[in-house]
Amino acid sequence: MALQEYECPACGGAMEFNPKTQMLKCPYCDSEFNVKDYVANHNSEGEGELADGYNSSAQSTDSQPLYVYRCGSCGGEILATESLGSTKCPFCSNNVVVKEKFTGQFKPDAIIPFKHTRDDAMETYRKHVKSKKLVPKVFLDENHIDELKGIYVPFWLFNATESFDGSYEATRVRTWSDSRYQYTETKYYNVQRAGTEDFENVPVDGSKEMPDDLMESLEPFDVNEMVPFNMGYLAGFLANKYNVSAKENEPRALARMKNSVALDFKQTISGYSSVRTLSENTGTIKSSHKYALYPVYVLNTSWQGKNYLFAMNGQTGKFVGNLPFSLAQAVKYYIPIAAIASLISFIIYYMFIY
Ligand SMILES: [Zn+2]
Ligand SMILES: [Zn+2]
Repeated sequence: MALQEYECPACGGAMEFNPKTQMLKCPYCDSEFNVKDYVANHNSEGEGELADGYNSSAQSTDSQPLYVYRCGSCGGEILATESLGSTKCPFCSNNVVVKEKFTGQFKPDAIIPFKHTRDDAMETYRKHVKSKKLVPKVFLDENHIDELKGIYVPFWLFNATESFDGSYEATRVRTWSDSRYQYTETKYYNVQRAGTEDFENVPVDGSKEMPDDLMESLEPFDVNEMVPFNMGYLAGFLANKYNVSAKENEPRALARMKNSVALDFKQTISGYSSVRTLSENTGTIKSSHKYALYPVYVLNTSWQGKNYLFAMNGQTGKFVGNLPFSLAQAVKYYIPIAAIASLISFIIYYMFIY
């Protein structure tokens, strides 16, 4: 199996994709190269080798088999899961991409390159943690922050035309009164809506390991900055190939579109006192998909036996996380307030009784 490597033509250093300049940059001699030119001219065949079942102890915790590749730069052995396609040699820090994971049926159609650096992500994470007063300090420890990784996550992008027809019962209510009576007039309307709506690039992540709701909360990604796939963008980042197929993901994407088509049509009904849905039908007229890699920073850490995940959209900087808080600190934080509140109610109670 061939590895794509990114050695600096000037000094041999391990080059990385630089989100600020959108070029491949050598951190040692500061040389910069255009991503497309570099990969075209240095399409290394590498000496990486797949050693299937290489070592029976080389099993990851969830019993995914591990594969070993040989670093073309130092000869060191790089262990990777089946879906991992872009990584760093742990011995010489050479950035390598397992070409087979991004060619043939696995070749992405497009990629949104990282625009934010790892330092940007660390800064955002620190601010986020500090803004939460109840967070255990352990989340600011450097070794936790070291877990922050830049990952290209595989996404399926669906295009579809959805048809819709809906039928509603709407009312208009008018009230008035004279000296003797109050009058209410209710007029009933039968409201019909029908039509089609086109959807483009509705994303669903193609990675089993990535929680779907977390990925959805990182949206939107700006597809206008999507470019044709090139392996150069992967240098210095982790990347997985998809392990959930487009076919498996399609129902999820179409369900999202059906929800919004129904909402969009219903929103055009206005000027009534009430609207009651009688029936709503959606159907898919045509759908297609493409495969793209989206940039995400992820900090996956565990603390006191629980897993916590923080993530940042590597393009827009949008940050989300299921930040926990420690019970010990929560108690310290809330008890005085609760004590004061119950004291006040006790005094009020006391005053009324006696
Ligand atoms: Zn260099
Ligand atoms: Zn190496």
